[in-house]
Amino acid sequence: MDSTSQPVIPDFNTISFIYFDLDDTLIDHKNAQDRALLDVWSQYPQMQQIEPLEFVTEYGATNHRLWEAYRNSEVTQRELRRLRFEDTFQRLGISSVDWREIDKVYMDCYSRHWDWIPDARKAFVRISEQYPVGIMTNGFTVIQKKKFEYFSLNRYAHHLIISEEAGHLKPDTRIFNFAAEQAGCKPGELLYVGDSYSSDVTGGINSGWKTAWYNRSGMQPELNLAHFTFSEYHRLLGVLQNTNTT
Ligand SMILES: [Mg+2]
Repeated sequence: MDSTSQPVIPDFNTISFIYFDLDDTLIDHKNAQDRALLDVWSQYPQMQQIEPLEFVTEYGATNHRLWEAYRNSEVTQRELRRLRFEDTFQRLGISSVDWREIDKVYMDCYSRHWDWIPDARKAFVRISEQYPVGIMTNGFTVIQKKKFEYFSLNRYAHHLIISEEAGHLKPDTRIFNFAAEQAGCKPGELLYVGDSYSSDVTGGINSGWKTAWYNRSGMQPELNLAHFTFSEYHRLLGVLQNTNTT
């Protein structure tokens, strides 16, 4: 089933609790990351031998590879934070930059660029008035907790679940099962809203949940098994309001 053959109104009648992914679903992580990297680039003359876009692109690819390794328990959190800069610098031929210093500068800049995805705040708040909601995120506890606080997510979310605390990363079904237990719901009563097809949609479906895929970039996977796909939040609001009143 591709996105065009999905029913206009998915069967969300059984939904009694909705979990959201955090990064790039509610919060624009990618934009904050890229802007923080540009800040780092501009502060270090030794980096300016390369183009800023080259740095952003190389870091993005390296970080993605290392997150896969972290997911597979091949590197620790500290190794990931070190290697994502060290490997990027090595590939780009940049030397004499200490990763600890860069990591600190990067994290400071990153948090200064945090912002909501367009319309996500309004949708999240409105949905939280109709359904109990929670957050389930792959990420590091210390960083994700700062985001919870910064965006006042605990005002709306009944459960805030972080992979590092749960002991498993999406798409592992064990974190979805843990979240279901926390919500006191059966899998078929849960909806997961997330931007990653491989982590959020696949993990949700394998756990028996309903899924809503926030496909902002218009990806077209060969097989789209998400129960609902949207690129603008008013469409998600539309189907949930429709579901709730029928
Ligand atoms: Mg995400």
